[in-house]
Amino acid sequence: MRRMSRERRIYQVLGAFALIAFAAALASCGGGEEPYVRESYLMGTKAIVTIYGMDPGAADSAAAAGIREMHRVESILSTWREDSDLSRLNASPGGEPVRVPPEVIDVLAQAYAFSELTGGAFDVTARPLVRLWGFQGGEAALPSDEAIEAARQLVGWRKISFDTEASTVTLLGGATVDVAGIGKGYAVDRCAEILREHGVRRALVNLGGNMYAIGTPPGRKGWTIGIRDPESGTRMIGRLVIRDEGVSTSGNYENFVTIDGKRYGHIIDPRTGHTVDHVLAVTAVAATATAADAFSTAMFVLGPEDARAVVTADPSVRAVFSLPGGGCRAIGDFGGRLEMETSCGR
Ligand code: ADP
Ligand code: MG
Repeated sequence: MRRMSRERRIYQVLGAFALIAFAAALASCGGGEEPYVRESYLMGTKAIVTIYGMDPGAADSAAAAGIREMHRVESILSTWREDSDLSRLNASPGGEPVRVPPEVIDVLAQAYAFSELTGGAFDVTARPLVRLWGFQGGEAALPSDEAIEAARQLVGWRKISFDTEASTVTLLGGATVDVAGIGKGYAVDRCAEILREHGVRRALVNLGGNMYAIGTPPGRKGWTIGIRDPESGTRMIGRLVIRDEGVSTSGNYENFVTIDGKRYGHIIDPRTGHTVDHVLAVTAVAATATAADAFSTAMFVLGPEDARAVVTADPSVRAVFSLPGGGCRAIGDFGGRLEMETSCGR
């Protein structure tokens, strides 16, 4: 058994860049007018803010403020930094209320709601299982059934309780939290909010494949987002158009460990404790980037059949699945705003 964190890191970065590069390329063909584009690097990936319809000075200060906001979100939601609120919460003995800032409670409460909504396919307390498989600082090695069972005992979103008035969170039964599955989406939504406050009416915020579209590029119906073939790296299996909503892609090809020659992806089914290999990638659209981020992770776990329940519960949600063996599946009502290659990429 070998640890291949360097390889994993390289694939993660390359994958994120490939996705972003394409989305940005599409974003820049907006009816002749040149967009303003500003980039940064945060949460282990690239951030790109594209703005149309503003003079360069105004666009520059809006984008700078939006990117500053994403860096702020990274610092409050990090579990890599020992002094962050989440790390402090996770290090606490449990069973006792721990004071955290209202914004952290808000993000955790959203993550809790998505955990409940998806029946635990997305689970804000999945961290022990995620680490057991070698992610989030864990050591990559094939876990024994006993180790999986022991970690599963620590997982379950109902082990968290909130007191919003006192601004406290209580973790029970050895639970720990992290928001890796929705943090990028939340950062994107915060950035979009700041852009709007600066008067931006046409923009795309993209953080490693987690995006939010404000309005449309000039003369267009929306922002065209390419859906990559997870097995080829450059080829597209389709494209969709979004406006005033979020989109997120979760995939196994960007972040995985190799143990005894076999790849294990970074998304875990909290209900079984095993990594998921029945899906290669999911691109989910939802009202916010936070929701799209949570749903893409959850739907990855659920697979296209079980994910229909999510789409039925919230008709604004829709998704495209890339499946092993070259298949793909779209669920939900895209209303003519999805174009797939007939062969689904092959
Ligand atoms: P990315 O971080 O690449 O944008 P996702 O949004 O799909 O991808 O989040 C995956 C991350 O979330 C994993 O790296 C892991 O830390 C954590 N995670 C894995 N499985 C789950 C799950 N079932 N529920 C919640 N978080 C998960
Ligand atoms: Mg996610």
